[in-house]
Amino acid sequence: MRNDPHRSDVNRTGGSPLTLAGNHPDDLDTWLCITDLHDRPLHLGRSRRTANTDQRLALFATDHGCTFPGCTAPATRTQVHHVTDWADGGTTDIEYLTYACDRHHRQIHTGPLGWATTTAPPGHRYAGRTLWHPPALADPTREGRVNHHFHPGDLLRDPDPDPGSS
Ligand SMILES: [Zn+2]
Repeated sequence: MRNDPHRSDVNRTGGSPLTLAGNHPDDLDTWLCITDLHDRPLHLGRSRRTANTDQRLALFATDHGCTFPGCTAPATRTQVHHVTDWADGGTTDIEYLTYACDRHHRQIHTGPLGWATTTAPPGHRYAGRTLWHPPALADPTREGRVNHHFHPGDLLRDPDPDPGSS
């Protein structure tokens, strides 16, 4: 084990491991998810367009549900979305994937009423989380917003996490 190169990679680059369990007593399988320092694992680059099972499980651990601000759709009612669209060169890397429900997935486009998504960069107060940028007609600043519904700790740390938004 000491000379196992994969273990060395985990020790060198791994973040915090976490376990997941289902909500139903019959599906209490435990999963091990090894993440990077931003709790985001697994990179597939351009080798594959669709997210694999491990990436979907990792998103369950981090996103919990649709990432659109205020949306309450659970993970079971979402699709995996490329934060940078696949057609625009997006990659199937965990830090550029997110959950979006059907309704909000359809709202991501380049038209005048379209929303855009990005990943909050290091140093941002929600680093690694998906930022949703409203259409310029609704908010000329297009400032990115996150979904606090599945992250109630956001509101405990900062009672006004999104100044300027309603
Ligand atoms: Zn949604």
